[in-house]
Amino acid sequence: MLTLEEALQRVLAAVPPPARETVSLSEAAERALAEAISSPVDLPPFDNSAMDGYAVRAEDTAPATVEKPAVLQIAGRIAAGEPPRCRVEPGTCTRLFTGSVLPPGADAVVMQEDTAADPSDAAIVRVTDAVKPWENVRFRGEDIKRGEVILETGAPLGAAQLALLAATGIGNLQVARRPVVGVMATGSELREAGAALAEGQIYESNRVTIATLARQAGAVVKIFPLVADSLAGTRAALEQIFSECDCVVSTGGVSVGEHDYVKDAFAALGGEIGLWRVAIKPGKPFVFGRIRSASLSPGGGTGRGEGADDVSKLFFGLPGNPVSAFVTFLVLVRPALRRWQGAAEISLPSHPGTLAEPLANRGDRRHFVRVEVDDAGRVRPAGVQASHRLASLARATGLVEVPPETVLPSGAAVRVLRWECWP
Ligand code: AMP
Ligand code: MG
Repeated sequence: MLTLEEALQRVLAAVPPPARETVSLSEAAERALAEAISSPVDLPPFDNSAMDGYAVRAEDTAPATVEKPAVLQIAGRIAAGEPPRCRVEPGTCTRLFTGSVLPPGADAVVMQEDTAADPSDAAIVRVTDAVKPWENVRFRGEDIKRGEVILETGAPLGAAQLALLAATGIGNLQVARRPVVGVMATGSELREAGAALAEGQIYESNRVTIATLARQAGAVVKIFPLVADSLAGTRAALEQIFSECDCVVSTGGVSVGEHDYVKDAFAALGGEIGLWRVAIKPGKPFVFGRIRSASLSPGGGTGRGEGADDVSKLFFGLPGNPVSAFVTFLVLVRPALRRWQGAAEISLPSHPGTLAEPLANRGDRRHFVRVEVDDAGRVRPAGVQASHRLASLARATGLVEVPPETVLPSGAAVRVLRWECWP
């Protein structure tokens, strides 16, 4: 049985290089950047005011106090968006607003709150507090210099990064294409919501879960009909889904029972099994493989060489128990989907926590324990940990990894792996 690291290494080695596509900024959210971006402009693009107020020569305000204001002539006015049409000469000022261009001659801005109007002369302002040179001035290029690399290849594009790109005037950019993931569930006992259940049948719950996690990982998801346990039916379903998708994630049918057909069906289709079984709990019977598109097309798989259109497609066969499917997706499928999209960071987000109770793993496989975390970062098991128990999964906000044959004592520092940014 492979360790998680060995398994992940094999999976990642099989991930095709990211394909690029050009999208508009508004379509780029939550994608990974496929090029490094240099700013085409200085930010800010010109020296400007940080306040509503008056552009002045700082030395003209030097003695000003509330009792003894400096009296300045208002020689002009620049609204945000207007070019400066005037120069600030000694003894004068220019009315301006947040974002207005700093006019030539000025070396500071007095904020409006530090001034008083002259009741008898609208062309005069009384400055009641001195400013230092360059106070309240935002300098050209102080944030970003033209030509500076502002985002590296692989950077995730969240709201903050899009703000930076938009401010530099970039409208289109190259991102990695999202892989299309087909989600399939096997099991003759499974029924769709709304169906009446005969004895022994259960409602299917893995596809929506895997689809949600795959979308959160950036994939385009297609959900396929339920597949009963048979070799021919599983093979036909895999063939169909592979013809429409870059990757198939199935659940169930990967264990050692005589109704577990997934591995054999994948192999019968021409797939190469890259690994089966990983030393983690839950999730041991995980299977991963690769299939060439040429072996899927009619006449394919006959030994002809890899053509230009022959691409590798990936197969992830997750165990059927819902928590096993959930955990194996997070630790083995999600990193592959992130890498496929060129993301620089492919691990799950995580944060430190402190155990409020001991966590024991008496087994010989590394255990991913469902935990709850309170506001103070104290971590507790979210309930019973068996791999079919969904109440504890729904309560959990993270996973803590406990090594084999280990008891982590109360008070131990742990890392909590997260899969959602909320709650
Ligand atoms: P398997 O991996 O096919 O042996 O399934 C292990 C357990 O998970 C069995 O109890 C199945 O009924 C259950 N199971 C498998 N697939 C699903 C699914 N898609 N939704 C809910 N339970 C499932
Ligand atoms: Mg099954």
